[in-house]
Amino acid sequence: MINRKSRDEIKRMRHAGHIVALVHKKMREVVEPGISTKELDAIAKSVIKENKAIPTFLGYNGFPACICASINEKVVHGIPNEKEILKEGDIIAIDVGATYGGMVGDSAWSYAVGKISEDKQKLMKVTEEALFAGISKMRAGNVLDDISGAIEDVANKNGMGIVRQYGGHGVGHVMHEDPFLFNYRVGDKTLLKSGYVIAIEPMLNLGGDEVFVEDDNWGVVTKDRKPSAHFEHTVLCTDDEPVLMTSLME
Ligand code: MG
Ligand code: MG
Repeated sequence: MINRKSRDEIKRMRHAGHIVALVHKKMREVVEPGISTKELDAIAKSVIKENKAIPTFLGYNGFPACICASINEKVVHGIPNEKEILKEGDIIAIDVGATYGGMVGDSAWSYAVGKISEDKQKLMKVTEEALFAGISKMRAGNVLDDISGAIEDVANKNGMGIVRQYGGHGVGHVMHEDPFLFNYRVGDKTLLKSGYVIAIEPMLNLGGDEVFVEDDNWGVVTKDRKPSAHFEHTVLCTDDEPVLMTSLME
């Protein structure tokens, strides 16, 4: 069942999304060679707490941190670690959720650590482009497959692998609600309606599609060890333009 959010729910969610955007604003400032993913997690936690929100990820299915920090070939769900230090040339995907007034905002962004290779620049640019291509289809009257197909087309056009096992999702009172959103066409004709809120989140690889889960049962890594990027916004469907719920409010 996909639930349509009320005006009041949307208002609280927009606030949660703003706090998530504040975390990303801070991450953009502090991501640099020499910082550990554990330190990034502590900084994210302080931004969430200062804004009187709850770190959604902490304790979610037992996840031990407030952000997922996934470097280079790690796709998603990396657990922050004090021994994991960013170095020049890395890319890091940081995924964060905040709960405010009982509603969740969820957004991920990939960041360059210092100067990165042209390949990695292209991967990040294409993945972000895929996200916005997907977002542009988030309109009442379209179907879920329109979003999936827009993402798939950008990935294919640029020769990027598409992570198949993970995807976008409805979001609201909890982080993962119906529907599941594939990042490639599956023929899902579920109609989009105003009031639906979906986290759209392409995960694209510089190499093949295949991934595996690490021994910690969280970290997801590309099988060919080539880098992966991840961009995500929580997006509200309306009868008009899609609304980004996880951008900074004026
Ligand atoms: Mg996320
Ligand atoms: Mg998500």
